[in-house]
Amino acid sequence: VWNSCLAFIKDNITPQAYKTWFEPIQAVKLTDKALSIQVPSKFFYEWLEEHYVKLLKVSLNRVLGDQAKLVYVIRMENTYGNKQPFTEKIPSTNRSNMQSQEVDVPIKNKNPELKNPFIIPGIRNVKIESQLNPSYNFDNFLEGDSNRLARSAGLAVANKPGETSFNPLLIFGGVGLGKTHLAHSIGIEIKDKYPEKTVLYISAEKFTQQYIESVKKNNRNDFIHFYQIIDVLIVDDIQLLSGKAGTQDVFFHIFNHLHQNRKQVILTSDKAPVDMQDIEQRLLSRFKWGLSAELQHPDTDTRISIIKNKLYRDGVDMPEEIVEFLANNIKTNIRELEGAIISLIAHSSFNKKDITLDLAKKIVDNYVKNTKREVSIDYIQKIVSEYFQMDVETLQSKTRKRHIVQARQLAMFFAKKFTKASLASIGSQIGKRDHATVLHACKTVDNLASTDKQFNKYVEDINKKLTL
Ligand code: ADP
Ligand code: MG
Repeated sequence: VWNSCLAFIKDNITPQAYKTWFEPIQAVKLTDKALSIQVPSKFFYEWLEEHYVKLLKVSLNRVLGDQAKLVYVIRMENTYGNKQPFTEKIPSTNRSNMQSQEVDVPIKNKNPELKNPFIIPGIRNVKIESQLNPSYNFDNFLEGDSNRLARSAGLAVANKPGETSFNPLLIFGGVGLGKTHLAHSIGIEIKDKYPEKTVLYISAEKFTQQYIESVKKNNRNDFIHFYQIIDVLIVDDIQLLSGKAGTQDVFFHIFNHLHQNRKQVILTSDKAPVDMQDIEQRLLSRFKWGLSAELQHPDTDTRISIIKNKLYRDGVDMPEEIVEFLANNIKTNIRELEGAIISLIAHSSFNKKDITLDLAKKIVDNYVKNTKREVSIDYIQKIVSEYFQMDVETLQSKTRKRHIVQARQLAMFFAKKFTKASLASIGSQIGKRDHATVLHACKTVDNLASTDKQFNKYVEDINKKLTL
């Protein structure tokens, strides 16, 4: 009977859904017109009831006729890790019953040493500290191309937690690019808009510690229940669950429960889901249910605005030249950028000296130690065009106006000097010229520099800017 039902169901849903929600079901018995099926967990049962009850009904009616009934048998031990496995029978479409049962479960507080957020007098009137950091908010999370998608997805989620298709929202990106900041911002915004919602921010590391503790103290169930009553769960650095099977398992159940009850889950990770290692497939596949939004390296303009914003907040003035220097030299980590600003300010105030470019250079060297500061052809073109107050397009254009030709030749000369690019490649990047043109440019610059004083000053100035 069940197999005929399955055949019908299979034709009516996606293979993925079938695999996830129907393959794990086992038919256990058939009495009269009632078919009992065993499902792996309560979550599973609730999910089926929520999403597939019609399909189940239709398929069963087709096979067994109008009087058909469905009974779920839930394997409880898989859900809550009870030592005594037992099963519970629930007739179909009896959901309200289930839920009230669940809400009424009192939570024992065997464990008074466990501090907040673990002191839970009962599942009702629980007050949970959000653990949110108010200084990480949307107002000071500056927008740029590198974070636009993630930021606006975060705002969408904050406006309607649990109601968008961004559930879970997974924010991923390299170190120091703003994952934690953005995650807090979302939580803060939700708390602002929906003060009645329970929001919890937790790092995956702390989550793991709490879980291990709960197992030791024999209150794993309290741990699970605690997380299941949260409206918005934010777990930071989820990649840290890799290789931790027990924690992943418990997180899987909590996740399913929350997701199923339309609670919002927000995760951050330093890797895209495809690159996460030693995380169970079933968890990875859930991470992909919602939206994965990447935080990329901020572009120069965004870096400059982040620096200026920080200086403004700290009430510090810094010459534009130094701001640009910092932005051009610390590119891949906003935390380091902030660190450099802070130590720059500290140095200058300790030594009662102005913030100078020299000081900035020393400090930046501490931050970008081994990675030799690299000069790219793009950067050279930018510096040269800025120096002559023209834009890069003009520098690359076909025009033969003398000062533009000179700027272009200087850019080629410095590209040859500072990069490993071939003459051909330099030519193609600077206004699609051929290698002979680049060679000619380099000779011309050499000649002019030794004969023309003014021109020699250009070479020296630009050289200085590029080697800062
Ligand atoms: P991650 O968690 O990705 O390692 P963080 O969220 O800790 O990075 O961010 C590092 C620092 O950079 C924080 O001080 C944060 O405030 C700052 N930061 C990151 N992105 C932005 C941004 N878009 N605007 C302003 N500050 C930012
Ligand atoms: Mg972080």
